Amino acid sequence: MLINRPPQDSTYDLVVVGTGFGSLFYLKRYQELYPGARILVLERGKYHTREWQLEQGQNSEIGYTDTYQMPEGQKRWSTTIALGGGTLCWWGITPRMSPEDFKMRSNFGVGVDWPITYDELVPYYRQAEQIMMISGPNDLEGRFPGTAPYPARPHHLSTPDELLKAASPNTHFAVPSARLREPVGSRGACCSTSRCHLCPMDAKFNALNAMMDVLGAENTFVLTDAEVTHLDIQNDVVKSVTYSHDGQDFSASGDLVVLGANAIQSPYLLQKSGDTHPVLGRYLHEKLSAIFEVHLDGVDAFDGGQASTGLNYGLYDSADRSQYGAATFYTENHWGTGLRTEYGRWRQILPLFVVIEDIPQEHNGVTVGDGSAPFVDHPDWSDYAYRGLDKVKENLPDVLSGLPVESVSMAYQLVTASHVQGTMRMGEDPETSIVDKDLIHHRVRNLTCVGTSVWSSCGVANPSLTAAALSLRAANTAFASQEDPS
Ligand SMILES: Cc1cc2nc3c(=O)[nH]c(=O)nc-3n(C[C@H](O)[C@H](O)[C@H](O)COP(=O)(O)OP(=O)(O)OC[C@H]3O[C@@H](n4cnc5c(N)ncnc54)[C@H](O)[C@@H]3O)c2cc1C
Repeated sequence: MLINRPPQDSTYDLVVVGTGFGSLFYLKRYQELYPGARILVLERGKYHTREWQLEQGQNSEIGYTDTYQMPEGQKRWSTTIALGGGTLCWWGITPRMSPEDFKMRSNFGVGVDWPITYDELVPYYRQAEQIMMISGPNDLEGRFPGTAPYPARPHHLSTPDELLKAASPNTHFAVPSARLREPVGSRGACCSTSRCHLCPMDAKFNALNAMMDVLGAENTFVLTDAEVTHLDIQNDVVKSVTYSHDGQDFSASGDLVVLGANAIQSPYLLQKSGDTHPVLGRYLHEKLSAIFEVHLDGVDAFDGGQASTGLNYGLYDSADRSQYGAATFYTENHWGTGLRTEYGRWRQILPLFVVIEDIPQEHNGVTVGDGSAPFVDHPDWSDYAYRGLDKVKENLPDVLSGLPVESVSMAYQLVTASHVQGTMRMGEDPETSIVDKDLIHHRVRNLTCVGTSVWSSCGVANPSLTAAALSLRAANTAFASQEDPS
């Protein structure tokens, strides 16, 4: 239940930090496994109702650039600080990670392997897709075994998508997404107006339209405006969690603490709490992304069923990932860079949102800085990512050969893909990683770290579905090992 002042009782079975993807999916599964458990959830942001968000045109009153510091001129990192975290602002795109993305070192000799495989995650991907009611194409089964059937049928492709699909049926697909095609319950059908961070129809999965039963559960106490500032770690155990509410400090303890305060705030919190592991905060990364424009001859675009309609793996399949980053692209159903100006041809343009994987680099990361907010230092993407961008420019015309193309050009490189990853990486070796395959801190065993902070390698997939699946798995595994300690 939502509470508006710190509770009298300060002892819980579970204390959860944050209410984004990582925290919410862990919480949901934990409640199912331990029905009577007493849980405290501490959320730094406010509860902004859907009406408030639509009126204000934003997801939170806290600007994300006010939540960290960085050297002047560097790229920014977008997050949402509010009840629901990134479930509010996200655009609902939900591809899975490919099996080979989990094994970069073994397959391509670069980066590191995840300590977990795609196959181990499949049952949890399915559960996460069910919970979010993902609409997707069943022919993705060929690339992502264990995908079909999706809970809901895919959105309409646009005319250029239909041509790309006909030319390369195994590389071009309808985008799997958490936006409903048909209304279900209080959630409406996607209006395809590309206002997805606000989602005027409430079609997109978010914490407020699909997780209020979890947040409102009887023995779960959810306090907003409660910024966790410190974890008291003694003898490798989190003894208590300190948080600030209304200018005052409070503390609470839990047998288990789940830290899901996003990939910038979580490592900072641990660093401020005295964790000096050399890898903590390191390897911050995200994809390199760019918008390309394709001028078409005689084919109109922008007649698809959602904001991004097609997902293409042509550039991904042909990439030599030992040398440069693989890429995918989305065909966009909105005209962010404008329409064509020639008479009668204004819709003969197809914008592409291209994402290229990076190799996480140790020198990029988060430190305590002056102690008032995380200091984020990420001078640039790696040469590996930029070589990937060069390959995109070279190979895109081939991949688009199913279309009547007049010209292809890069419009601009994006400042951010809005995917904050790394900083508390998962791994088998406690010397080189922060959490194990079950998301448990290697040293502090009553601390589980969730969300995209645990990414070991970048991949090309939007990360939230995988964050949800990892959390469902982590809660399940913790329960199973308690039941059967052998
Ligand atoms: C505009 C935009 C569009 C996006 N679209 C997509 C998409 O289409 N598909 C996709 O997969 N991903 C998308 N993302 C990325 C997605 O939002 C993130 O990957 C995801 O939210 C990460 O989950 P998380 O649990 O790690 O962190 P979050 O979801 O950010 O959750 C962190 C939570 O912790 C809270 N918190 C932070 N600090 C503290 C503290 N000190 N004390 C207490 N609470 C705290 C925050 O308020 C928040 O509730 C998008 C992001 C943006 C910005």
